[in-house]
Amino acid sequence: MRILLIEDEARLANIIQRLLRSERFDVDLALTGNEGLDLALTGNYDALIVDRMLPGIEGLEIIRQLRADGVATPVLILTARADLPERVEGLNAGADDYLGKPFAFEELLARLRALLRRIDRPIAPVTLSAGGISLNLDQHTVTRQGDPVDLTQREYLLLETLMRNQGRVLTRDELLERVWGYDADPQGNVVELYIHYLRRKLDAPSATAASSLIRTVRGVGYQMMVS
Ligand code: CA
Repeated sequence: MRILLIEDEARLANIIQRLLRSERFDVDLALTGNEGLDLALTGNYDALIVDRMLPGIEGLEIIRQLRADGVATPVLILTARADLPERVEGLNAGADDYLGKPFAFEELLARLRALLRRIDRPIAPVTLSAGGISLNLDQHTVTRQGDPVDLTQREYLLLETLMRNQGRVLTRDELLERVWGYDADPQGNVVELYIHYLRRKLDAPSATAASSLIRTVRGVGYQMMVS
């Protein structure tokens, strides 16, 4: 995981950098707002830790400019000013979390890890499409030829996984782990069952096994057709 730390207090910055590195994060450090913004705009980071009061461009302005530029990297703001109006202002600027100084390093780490766990929810693209099926990641809705399709949460997750991997064959075990979790019963036939549900809801009534949107690769798994 690659982190960018934008903090002008060199001593504190070095401590945070050292501690994060000891937790096996890759950490780049920017000591000014301008340098920080330039680095953050590359989009090469999994998360940003941004001090509010910085020489040059201040922390909130960095976040505003990033968001305006479509950079969705999660941001944790560090600040000496952590009273409620300040927090609200920070979150409104597009920050994801807010931590007042002084802070315990474990709390910084906990919040950072919470941010990183949320990365899996991508901002763009918002829509995945294949063979007339459109899946809106923001609204968790699915349409077929423009008509809404009613899916259960598990069906939706399975479809999303297939659509994110269009053209690739996903094994049954892979789907089981991704959609049902590592503790799912590998002996069951839940994957087969849900593929059947999806086909019934998504394929044209006249579809055959060969023309289904979800192709069975015998002995291997399933593959979403590429559109
Ligand atoms: Ca500062």
